[in-house]
Amino acid sequence: MRVRVAFGTGILLGLWNGRVDVPPTTAHFLTYYEGRCHANCKFCPQANRSSSDPHMLSRVLWPPCDFNRVLERMERRVNRFDRVCVQSVNYPRVVEDVQLIVSKLKRSADLPTSVSIRPLSRGEMRELKRAGADRICFPLDACTPRVFRQVKEGYSWEAHLRALQLASDEFPGAVTTHLIIGLGETEEEAVRMIQWLHDRGITVGLFAFTPIPGTALADHPRPDLASYRRIQLAHYLIQADVSSVGEMVFENGQLTSFGVSERVLLSTIESGEPFRTSGCPGCNRPFYNESPRGPIYNFPRRPTRREVMEIIQEVFQHDLAKE
Ligand code: SF4
Repeated sequence: MRVRVAFGTGILLGLWNGRVDVPPTTAHFLTYYEGRCHANCKFCPQANRSSSDPHMLSRVLWPPCDFNRVLERMERRVNRFDRVCVQSVNYPRVVEDVQLIVSKLKRSADLPTSVSIRPLSRGEMRELKRAGADRICFPLDACTPRVFRQVKEGYSWEAHLRALQLASDEFPGAVTTHLIIGLGETEEEAVRMIQWLHDRGITVGLFAFTPIPGTALADHPRPDLASYRRIQLAHYLIQADVSSVGEMVFENGQLTSFGVSERVLLSTIESGEPFRTSGCPGCNRPFYNESPRGPIYNFPRRPTRREVMEIIQEVFQHDLAKE
């Protein structure tokens, strides 16, 4: 049996040589499947109609590897990671494969384990829980049904929402979804969706859209950095229950006030926390969306004082003056 191993994870496991700018805190694996994913997400290099390098997911390389070798390395190097994440493409036997991968990884390296997969039935969720998964992620990716219909061919918005709500019973407090910013939603739509998910106890991992050669969206632009920072800040304030979408102000879809005092806003920005990778606890996904040369959308570590000052000066100066 083979699995795909994220390039940085493989370096930490000693499967191949390379340099990591920031070590991944989560060991990332992806199901191996001969052929392409049966779904057709237009941003994804694994998509059915993509002509991208099949070893890629987002901008990261995931070489296939013998699973027994991976298990043996995980056993010896378990202390390098805080979490395991098993990602999957969509094909008929994927649930059985993920169950097997999770249960074997759990036996070799007993770490908290997330699974990111297509919407599941309650029975399938229970099977995964029995195998050892402690968190589940159904990636919505799109912030609105309109964007979803445009980019996630082969999936249904309603089925994703149903599975997320069902998962809240089966994995209480341990459900994640991913939202990709920059697919055509407004800031207001993104923030309203973040609030909706937060109100249901669902954790949001924010991603910045990354154009990948060979995908249908290869020529689509990356999100504006200032806009992404505003959404990160709103997301952080909502998840910390410091503000809510009802207290925020939008003008023509753009966030113009975060619903907190200038003092709270500044200290939140200065902490650097809103701009770090978000999602499951212990997941930093280094440079999943961007080159280490920048611009960095999701910081896989605490941003330096200088980086925070740059965020304030280049991105928030105008907005702060308005608060
Ligand atoms: S947030 Fe990280 S650990 Fe959780 S599902 Fe996403 S990639 Fe995996």
